[in-house]
Amino acid sequence: MAKATKKTAVTTTKKAAEKKKATTTKKATETKKAAETKKATAAKKATETKKAAETKKATAAKKAAETKKTQAATKAVTAKEKEQGKKKTSDQTDISIEERLMALFELQSCDSDIDKIKILRGELPLEVQDLEDEIAGLETRINNFNDEVNSLETAISNKKNEIKSAEILIKKYEEQQMNVRNNREFDSLSKEIEFQTLEIELCEKRIREFTVQLKEKNEVIEESKSVLEERNGDLDNKKSELDEIIADTQKEEELLVKKLNGIKTKIDPRLLTAYQRIRMNARNGLAVVTVQRDACGGCFNKIPPQRQLDIKSRKKIIVCEYCGRILVDDDITQDIAV
Ligand SMILES: [Zn+2]
Repeated sequence: MAKATKKTAVTTTKKAAEKKKATTTKKATETKKAAETKKATAAKKATETKKAAETKKATAAKKAAETKKTQAATKAVTAKEKEQGKKKTSDQTDISIEERLMALFELQSCDSDIDKIKILRGELPLEVQDLEDEIAGLETRINNFNDEVNSLETAISNKKNEIKSAEILIKKYEEQQMNVRNNREFDSLSKEIEFQTLEIELCEKRIREFTVQLKEKNEVIEESKSVLEERNGDLDNKKSELDEIIADTQKEEELLVKKLNGIKTKIDPRLLTAYQRIRMNARNGLAVVTVQRDACGGCFNKIPPQRQLDIKSRKKIIVCEYCGRILVDDDITQDIAV
């Protein structure tokens, strides 16, 4: 019994040893495999890292190149702008404040002359426009009413045709009544005749209604036509009046506009915008005024003597502290004429 147990134990031990060996082998294999895999992975990783590094390097290089390029471009633009700015500044400094004030005064004179021409034309251009609009409206109205008249006439003639058909039917039924076989047929035909007679009456009623509407529409058309004739007469008068004024002033205006555009090129855009803004807000369209009898020529408020001296020196653009108009000394008129 003990022997058997021992044998069993030996067997067990042997078995265990075998198992252990197998396990160890398996483990070793696994470890080896793992090592290989690890190695492979490491190699792969290294390759990838290398690749990534290369890519990164390339990207960085590319980026650097681009940045350099951009910087160069910016530098070039800046240089160009600087140059332009220099040029602009030198252009602007070439025009002294005094010259700018003179240009502004000339600009104002031109604008005022053009304003005078526009005042002479007065409301005429607007009146002509209004008349043209009214005439177009009247013509549309007449056309619409004509369309309505046409459709009413068509409706009346349709109703007349319906009456004719009903009369034909009645005649037919009356003839049939002569040859009926019984009372029932006779009565049935009588009902048909009655129905058609009612139809005729209804048509006649509609025709009367349409005729009334037709008359009303025709009256409106006649009225509109006489108004249209009147307005056309007015338009002809206003137009010839306007044409006459335009003919008298057109050449003058064209010359003034040409002169105006010439002066505008002498004034820098910012100053020009300021001038136009003041002019738009000022009564009489005056943005540049002279000092007259110690007062602003625009709003007639007194100007202190020191301020008048500053204006006379023409070293600065001075605006009226009350109305905001640009002030120039009265002598500028003669200086421009020279
Ligand atoms: Zn003023």
